[in-house]
Amino acid sequence: MKLSKAHILLFHRVHPTRDPLWDPMDPKLFDQVLNYVSKKYTVLSMSEITSGKDIKSAKPIVAITFDDGYKDFIEYSLPILTKYNLPSSMYVVTNCIDENSPTWTYMVDHYFFHTRKLEIDDVPFEGLPEKYLITRWNSKSERLKFGSSFKQFMKTISNEKRKLLLNHIIENFNDVKSPGGMMMNWSEIKTILSENVEVGSHTVNHPPLATLENENEIKSELIDSGERIKQMTGKFPDAISYPVGSYDKRVMRIANETGYRIGLAVNHKIYKPERDNLFEIPRLELYNESFLKTKLRATGFYSSVKNILGR
Ligand SMILES: [Zn+2]
Repeated sequence: MKLSKAHILLFHRVHPTRDPLWDPMDPKLFDQVLNYVSKKYTVLSMSEITSGKDIKSAKPIVAITFDDGYKDFIEYSLPILTKYNLPSSMYVVTNCIDENSPTWTYMVDHYFFHTRKLEIDDVPFEGLPEKYLITRWNSKSERLKFGSSFKQFMKTISNEKRKLLLNHIIENFNDVKSPGGMMMNWSEIKTILSENVEVGSHTVNHPPLATLENENEIKSELIDSGERIKQMTGKFPDAISYPVGSYDKRVMRIANETGYRIGLAVNHKIYKPERDNLFEIPRLELYNESFLKTKLRATGFYSSVKNILGR
């Protein structure tokens, strides 16, 4: 039978230590989720789901995907995936792997959260919106408010300018230890490839692709990350996962032109091949919540409620 729908689950980190900023999923919850899906669903790889071939399964279909390339995948997720003998996919940010540094989105939050400083030098940036000119704060909460709004602003500019601003933040908040050692290295990525894990691209620098004005920047994010993965693993990846779920028609076209076969969005709904283009495959993102809530997200219940209310 042709595939009519699939629940494509999106995970990031799985780790037993709580993180107030980007809370990873607890391994116990991850185990519960996999135990549940392995009983109620047939778990397939992204290649199988998007192959267009007939699928023989009485149960509904699930795929398990991870973004970013955190090292805790090897330490916590993979052993549990192996225990249930389930395939999965990992989408890596190639510069983050090369530099063993988390994504810029994580870095901005990390520095604003952990610094004790209540000021930052004036931001060296032409045409900076006026509200970011106030760089003295009265309290930690004011600083955090500024940080989260500044991060949103950083999503709207070019890669080059974003790097400049990130460096400015890092230099100014020099009382903060840089979060190193959190990402997998290439030899670990090669290892997971032999453990029933497909590896795809999540770009070079993790920019929100739809906000990049320059098409060449989108192209190089897609091509350079794919080529880097090919250089290290021997194969240009099939899939591009769009950072922060940001894509548009232009991004989809370029993904197609640059040699990818599928593009993964977030969009919090069930994938339906009849409705969804191969370059905007929706995924259901899961968080560190109760098992019940996680189950409701995985079954697509939340998104269908939203759709009903939205109509
Ligand atoms: Zn990401």
